Amino acid sequence: MEICAMHQGDIKYIILDKNSVKLACTECKDDGITEGCEPDQCILISKVLKLPEVLLSKINIDSELKSFFSNILKESKEELSNFKNYWLKQLQEIKTALENLICETDNYIDTLTKMLSGYRIELKRIIKFEIFEQYIKANVNNYNIDKMGSAIIYKNRNEINSQLELKIQDYINQITQVNKDEIQKKMEDLVLDYKNKVINTKVPSSIEILNSFKSGLEEFQVAVTEKSRLVNPLLSVVSSLLSPSNFQDILYKIPQKQSAKCTLIYQGSKDGFETIKFWNKIQNKSNLLMIMKLKNNVCIFGGYSPCQWLKSSQPQFIADNQGHSFLFIQNKSVQMQYYPIKSDFKHQAISVNQNYGPLFGKNDLQIFSDFKEGYINIGQHYFRDPKDNQQSLLLGPKLTEITECEVYEL
Ligand SMILES: [Zn+2]
Repeated sequence: MEICAMHQGDIKYIILDKNSVKLACTECKDDGITEGCEPDQCILISKVLKLPEVLLSKINIDSELKSFFSNILKESKEELSNFKNYWLKQLQEIKTALENLICETDNYIDTLTKMLSGYRIELKRIIKFEIFEQYIKANVNNYNIDKMGSAIIYKNRNEINSQLELKIQDYINQITQVNKDEIQKKMEDLVLDYKNKVINTKVPSSIEILNSFKSGLEEFQVAVTEKSRLVNPLLSVVSSLLSPSNFQDILYKIPQKQSAKCTLIYQGSKDGFETIKFWNKIQNKSNLLMIMKLKNNVCIFGGYSPCQWLKSSQPQFIADNQGHSFLFIQNKSVQMQYYPIKSDFKHQAISVNQNYGPLFGKNDLQIFSDFKEGYINIGQHYFRDPKDNQQSLLLGPKLTEITECEVYEL
């Protein structure tokens, strides 16, 4: 490292002025700031050596690239490594809990099996079941021997069976009459004992871990999605209508568009709320995101479709074969609500008619020819959860006085 000629200090900074570069020690840097140099423009050399974006985010390059470089700066090898260690540990805990549950279930069912067999052995002992078994087995043996029998043997066999039937009846009488009280008492004790054993064996429970699993896994999904976004920051686009995070959320919903350019091609308040002006700006363009606002409503709403907005003098449906079109509503209090195109209606994602404003679906979202009023009734060609009636309560169905409409080409 070079030494500063003026202060003999180690050169630690690069100061980027508009048209000059200066190497500086700590004192030089402090002097520079006192003299009006932006602290932001004093770059630690050690930092820039690790991350080239530190330099690129400070110099005069394309503003979208610059914003990408300054956003991706926040992600580093260390950051990813910490993230990985944390979540692997969390997931490992879930795995361990699941493994314990597997083990517990294995033991539980084994225990139940043993108790059931033990109880059954004891039950057989109480009712002297082997006697009954003998009778039945004896009969089966006779049957086997006499299988080829004739009419003579039939008579003989009939006698044997009758004797057996009597014996079995006698056996049953022992249980139901002769030794009724004694056997009943023993059976009651056995059943009680068995029931107690089952009751006192802990049933494996997933309920306790289910809640922690659920929130843990949900947190995981949020974190890992967020991480995938942080390492892939969007190029900077600002909408005057949507919050930055909701705007980004929409862009992330659009497949393959995460890194594409995003250009504002029509803005009603600037370009004029007239159907002809709207169509002049958007005609024959595809991949348009439309965002709108009404005068006396806090909701921001709109739609995205990859379809081409053909300028047509007759109403014409346009198909979105991939089914990527969607409508959305941003309420003040609620998160973004999305309404994807129904798979049955992909062939009618949007409708184009140069005498009207935008039309999504049947009349899921429609702006009339005056470009001031419209209609919203999501659920025709775009899917709306029947439980969700927020939009119908907070917006529409009649839309009056549109005060802003932004159209972005993605
Ligand atoms: Zn110096």
